[in-house]
Amino acid sequence: MDIKDFRKNAHDMVDWMADYMEGGVRDFPVRPVITPGEIKAKLPAAAPIEGESFGAIFKDFKDIAVPGLTHWQHPRFFGYFPANSSPPSVLAEMLTAALGVNVMMWETSPAATEIEEQMLEWLRDMSGLPHDWQGVIQDTASTATLCAVLTARERATAWQSNSTGMRDQPQLTYYTSSESHSSVMKAIRIAGIGDEALRSVPLGDDLAMDAAALKGMIADDILAGRKPAGIVATVGTTSTGAVDPIRAIGEIANTHNIHFHVDSAWAGSAMICPEFRSMIDGLELADSFVSNPHKWLMTNFDCSVYYVKDAEALKRTFSIMPAYLKTKETGTVTDYRDWGIPLGRRFRAMKLWFVMRSYGVSGLQKIIRNHIAWAGELAEIIKEDKDFEIVTGPNLSLISFRVVAGDERESDSLTEKLVQLVNDDGYTYLTRTIVKGRPAIRIQIGQTQTTQSDVQDAWKHITSLRNTLNG
Ligand SMILES: *Cc1c(COP(=O)(O)O)cnc(C)c1O
Repeated sequence: MDIKDFRKNAHDMVDWMADYMEGGVRDFPVRPVITPGEIKAKLPAAAPIEGESFGAIFKDFKDIAVPGLTHWQHPRFFGYFPANSSPPSVLAEMLTAALGVNVMMWETSPAATEIEEQMLEWLRDMSGLPHDWQGVIQDTASTATLCAVLTARERATAWQSNSTGMRDQPQLTYYTSSESHSSVMKAIRIAGIGDEALRSVPLGDDLAMDAAALKGMIADDILAGRKPAGIVATVGTTSTGAVDPIRAIGEIANTHNIHFHVDSAWAGSAMICPEFRSMIDGLELADSFVSNPHKWLMTNFDCSVYYVKDAEALKRTFSIMPAYLKTKETGTVTDYRDWGIPLGRRFRAMKLWFVMRSYGVSGLQKIIRNHIAWAGELAEIIKEDKDFEIVTGPNLSLISFRVVAGDERESDSLTEKLVQLVNDDGYTYLTRTIVKGRPAIRIQIGQTQTTQSDVQDAWKHITSLRNTLNG
C-alpha cells in the first residue's frame, strides 16, 4: 500500500469507525449465533502469494470479521466487565500505531516515558491513591498481579530467589480469597510457588475476605515453619463486586512484613469519584494496586495501571543490565523495562493523555456516576418484580439477580435457562455466576455508548424472555 492509498483508505476506515460508534454497532446482535469453525472456514487455507487490494481486505473485514464478533462496544453489552473504547482513545491508538515507538527505556522514547510518568501521576492523584506511590502501565491486571507475586517472592527470600531459585528457601505461602480472580492462581503457578501454597481465605457473609480467618491462617503457617510472603486482596470481585477489608488486611500484612497487593481491576476506575473511596480505605498500608482503565475509564484495551509503594523493590525484582541496554542516563531516568516483564513496550500513555484531557476529570466522573445511578435504578425495578430477586449489589454498577419460582430448584433451573436464552437471543448480553453455591446472573453497566434507556430496554427484554419460560 503506497502512502497515497494509505491516506484514502484511512479516511474510509475512519468513516466506518465513526458509523460503528455512532450507532452502527446496534445493527448487530451483541453476540452472534455462530458454530465453532464457521469463520475459519471462510478464510483461505494459505496466505496470498501476491498482495491484495485494500478494498478486498476491508470488504472481508466487514463481511467476515464484524458479523462474527461479540460486540463489546454494543450499548447493551452488560456481560463480564466493560471494555471501554472511546473516540479520543481510538485516535490515540491510531497515532501510537503510526509512530510505532518502543518505550522500553527513556532513551528509546523520552517523551513517551515522561508522558507515561505524568499520566500516572494525574490518575493517581485524581483517584485518591497514596501520593508518594509510583505507577507504570502494564498490558493487563494479570501481568501486574504477577509482578506483585514475584516482588513478594524476592522480598520474602531476602532478594535471593532470582539468583538461587527456591532452593534452600522455606516454603513461601500466599493468601487470597476464594472470590479473587483466576490471575492470582496463574501468577502463583508462573512464579514457581505452586497452587498448594496459595491459601484460600474464607469469606464473610458479604463475600469479602474474612480478615480474622486470614490472621489465623498466617499464624498457623508461621508455627509450621513456613514463610508468609504475599497477600492479594480484591476491591470489586469479578463475580459480585465484593470488597475485601483493605485496612484490616493491611494491618495484618504490616505486622508480619508480608507483601500486600490490591487487585481493583474493574472498581479502581470508580475511585476518581471521591464518594466511593471508602472502598480503598487503608490502601496506604498496602504495597501495590492495579486498576484497568481499559475496563471502565474510556480507554481501549490494553491499558492497566500498576501502582507501587516501593518502586525500588519492583525494579530490583526485574532489572537485568546487559551491555546493550546501558545508556548514559541509566539510573537518572525512568527506564520502564525494569518495571515489569516485557522489554518492548507500546506507547500506551498516549491513550490516557487523550482520554483524560478530552473528557476531563468531571466528564469521566459523570460517566461513572451515571452507570452507577442506572444500576441503582435497575436494582429498584428488580426488587419490585416478584419474578426476580437481587442476589448481590448493586456494588457500584454491578448487580447479580436470579429468577424466583416455586422452590429453590426450580428458581435455579429457570435462572440457568434464562441466561442462556438471553445470550442466544443477541439483544443483550449477560454473564452467569455462582453465588454461595447457587446460580445467579450478573448485569454490569459500564459501556461507553450505553444510555439509561438501553438499560431499561434490556431489562424489559429480559423479563419478556423470562415470561416465555415455564414456571
Ligand atoms: C478483569 C479482572 C482481572 C483481569 O484483568 P486483565 O487485565 O484481563 O488481566 C483481574 N482481576 C479482577 C478483579 C478483574 O475484574
